[in-house]
Amino acid sequence: MAKKEFQAESKRLLEMMINSIYSQKEVFLRELISNASDAIDKIYYKTLTDDSLTFDRENYYIRLEADKDNRTLKVMDTGIGMTKEDLEKNLGTIAKSGSHAFKKANEIDDEHDIIGQFGVGFYAAFMVSDVVTVISRALGSDEAYKWESAGADGYTIEPCEKADVGTEIILKLKENEDEEDYDQFLEEYRLKEIVKKYSDFIRYPIKMDVTKS
Ligand code: ADP
Ligand code: MG
Repeated sequence: MAKKEFQAESKRLLEMMINSIYSQKEVFLRELISNASDAIDKIYYKTLTDDSLTFDRENYYIRLEADKDNRTLKVMDTGIGMTKEDLEKNLGTIAKSGSHAFKKANEIDDEHDIIGQFGVGFYAAFMVSDVVTVISRALGSDEAYKWESAGADGYTIEPCEKADVGTEIILKLKENEDEEDYDQFLEEYRLKEIVKKYSDFIRYPIKMDVTKS
């Protein structure tokens, strides 16, 4: 499968993220949860204008799954999902903050979301990950796609299976180094702490599942 290159600006930003411009690597989780919440907001706004759709609150949530054996952290949501074209456009291209435009259009004021305003949010995942995999199925589609990238040299997109509409972001965490402890992002108490610190205002439930090694 052909590997595609990131658009030039995206590549530069991605390199900054990989070399970590933020001392607080933990903010990656805030960014992914904020995107998950935005994705659920998008379904919610659709239901307001589309009579054929209803919004049953219990069906909408964000879930964190840490797998200590495989050293993966998964952030999943039951939001609007992404088509193949969305994956290409939203994750291969930067600087046009989709959610910023969306929030502006809907007059949502979100002072918490500084990084998000500049559209660099998603790439924060690369501060803690060797490989980032995004599996997504868009509302109204029965096809799912897998976007995957190990960093600045590009990404791949291929068809895959996904039972429900929504998105899963799977982070293959970096190995621990002298100064950096990435295993902390597999610990339930630590994840809870980060969620409490940055994502307390999120309007949807954030569930958690940590498998013991
Ligand atoms: P921003 O949130 O400011 O737009 P991000 O880099 O955080 O910038 O995300 C880029 C885009 O990728 C989002 O605008 C959105 O369209 C898409 N995206 C990211 N995560 C998700 C998700 N979980 N579900 C649906 N779309 C997503
Ligand atoms: Mg964002």
